[in-house]
Amino acid sequence: MSTTDKPSNFLEQIIEKDLAEGVVTSIHTRFPPEPNGFLHVGHATSICLNFGLAEKFGGQCNLRFDDTNPEKEEQKYVDSIQEDVKWLGFQWSGEVRYASSYFDTFYEWAVHLIREGKAYVDHQDAGSMARNRGDFKTPGVETADRKRSVEENLAEFEKMRAGEYEEGSCSLRAKIDLQHPNMNMRDPVLYRIRKQSHHQTGDKWCIYPSYDFAHGQEDAIEGITHSICTLEFQDHRPLYEWFIENLPVPHKPRQFEFARTNLNYTITSKRKLKRLVDENFVTGWEDPRMPTVSGMRRRGYTPASIRKFSDMVGVSRTDGIADISMLEHAIRDDLNQNAPRGMAVLNPLKVVITNLPEGEVQEMTAPMHPSKELGERTLPFTRELYIDRGDFTEDTTLSRKKFKRLVKGEYVRLRSAYVIKNDEVIKDENGEIVEIHCSYVPGTVGENPPEGVKPRGVIQWVSASHGKQVELRMYDRLLTHEAPDKGEEDFITHINPNSLEVKQAWVEPGLADAAPEQGFQFEREGYFVADRYDHSPEHPVFNLTIGLKDTWAKKV
Ligand code: ATP
Ligand code: MG
Repeated sequence: MSTTDKPSNFLEQIIEKDLAEGVVTSIHTRFPPEPNGFLHVGHATSICLNFGLAEKFGGQCNLRFDDTNPEKEEQKYVDSIQEDVKWLGFQWSGEVRYASSYFDTFYEWAVHLIREGKAYVDHQDAGSMARNRGDFKTPGVETADRKRSVEENLAEFEKMRAGEYEEGSCSLRAKIDLQHPNMNMRDPVLYRIRKQSHHQTGDKWCIYPSYDFAHGQEDAIEGITHSICTLEFQDHRPLYEWFIENLPVPHKPRQFEFARTNLNYTITSKRKLKRLVDENFVTGWEDPRMPTVSGMRRRGYTPASIRKFSDMVGVSRTDGIADISMLEHAIRDDLNQNAPRGMAVLNPLKVVITNLPEGEVQEMTAPMHPSKELGERTLPFTRELYIDRGDFTEDTTLSRKKFKRLVKGEYVRLRSAYVIKNDEVIKDENGEIVEIHCSYVPGTVGENPPEGVKPRGVIQWVSASHGKQVELRMYDRLLTHEAPDKGEEDFITHINPNSLEVKQAWVEPGLADAAPEQGFQFEREGYFVADRYDHSPEHPVFNLTIGLKDTWAKKV
C-alpha cells in the first residue's frame, strides 16, 4: 500500500517502537463498529487505518461487532458493514467477531467484581443516579445500596439476570470512587436491564453489559495489542485500565486515541444520517448523496479513491475539519486516470449529414482512454446525429478564440470522426432551431482537413439512430452549509432542495451495455457511473459522480 512511502504517523511510530523494543512481537488491531447504522466516510478512514496498520506491519486486524445495545442494532447493519469492509479491499483475520459471543465471560467477570467487593447492584433510577453522582464541582453521594454485602449483591444480580426486575429499576455498578475527578470513574454502570431480543443471542439475556464494561475486555479477549479509537474515549481510558487491572483477563491491550475525521458540508453521525433515511430526505442509506460507504459506492466512488482520501487526511491527535473537495479530488483523480471515456449529449440538437445516405453506417473508432491502454470503442457515424445545443451558434461575429465549436456556415470536427460544415439551419414557426443540415468532408477522419477548411474545434456527437437514450441522475451536495450540524438550527434546514435533478441524454450505443458500477468520463460533462441497482441495457441509468473541474487541486 502507498502508506509505506509516506512519513509515518504517530501510531506507526508507536508500533515501530513497540516492535523494535519487543513490547510486542506482532501487532493485532481491530475495527469495532456498533451495528446500529451503515458505515460512513469517517468509519472508512478508521477501517483504512486499522487494516492499513496490520497490512503495513504484517499483523492482523479483526472485524468485531460491538453489539451490546440490542435496541438499536439490526442484522441488516451487520451485513452491510461486512460488505463495506470487503469492498474497501480489506480482509479481517479469522471469523467475524461479536461482543455478544463474550456475554458469558462478561457475566462471569461481573460476578468476579461483585465477589471482590468491587461492584454492587444499585436500585436508583437513572435520574437519581445521575444526581447522586454529582458533577465536576460536586462530589458524588453514597447511597445505601453501595454498602450492601457481597452475598446480597450476588443475589440481587442473579435476580436482575432472571428478569425479576423491570427495565430501568436497577443496574450493576462498579464500586470505584464517587469523588473521582474523572466522572467516568464515579461508579460506572456495568450492566443494565433490557428486555429485548438480540440479533445474535436471541432471548438468552435480559441484562446487557454497558459499552464501557465490554469494549476493553473484548480487546483483551481477542489479544488486541493496539486498541485504536477516537479522542472522545481518552477520558474513558482510566476506566478501561481499571477493568483490565481488576479482572482475570488473558491479555492487556493498550489504547491509543486519534482525532475523528470530520468533513465540511458533511454529516458523520449515524444518528443524524438515520434521520435523513427515516424521514425520507433521501431514498435510503445507499442513496448516492449519503456520505455512507455504500452511498459513495453507488455514487461512483472507488475503493482506491476512499483509501487515497484516507491517506490524505492522515492521522492526527487534534480535531480538525477536512475539506470535502479533498475527497472529490481523490475520486476525480482516480477516474481521470482510469475511467474509460464516452460521449453523451445532454441538450440534443439534431444534425442531418446531407451527403451521407440514409441507412449508411460508417464505423469510427476511438480510444477508450487518451493515455491508458484500455482498447478501442466503435462509434457508428450515421446520417442523423445529435450534438449539444450549446455547441452550435448562428452568431458569426464570435471570434475563433472565443467560440471553438460550430458556427453557422463554418466547419467543426466531430470527435474521432469527420470534419463537418454547416450548410443550413432549419427553424420552426417561432424561430426556434429544429435541426441543422451539414455535410461531412471526406478524408478527414484522423487526417488534417484540406487547405481552406478550418474547423474551429472538436465537439461531441452521438448517432441519433444508433445512440441510446439514458437517464442521468445529476447529484449535487446534499447539504449547503459548511458546518451543517454545528449551529443552533436543525441541520435539516440546510438540505439542498436541488440535490438531484434527473435528465435525459443521448449516449454512444456501447454505454448502454456498461456493467453496473462501471465508471466513465462523459467527455466535457463529468464523471458518471452506471447505477448499481437501476441500470440495465434496456433502461440505462447513470449517476453523476463528480464534475470535471477540480477546485481543490488548485488550492494546493
Ligand atoms: P457515530 O458517531 O457515527 O455513530 P460511532 O463511533 O458511534 O460513530 P462506531 O460504530 O462505534 O460508531 O464506530 C466504529 C469505529 O469507527 C470506532 O472505533 C470509532 O472510533 C470509529 N469512527 C467513528 N466515527 C469516526 C470518524 N468520524 N472518524 C474516524 N473514526 C471514526
Ligand atoms: Mg461508537
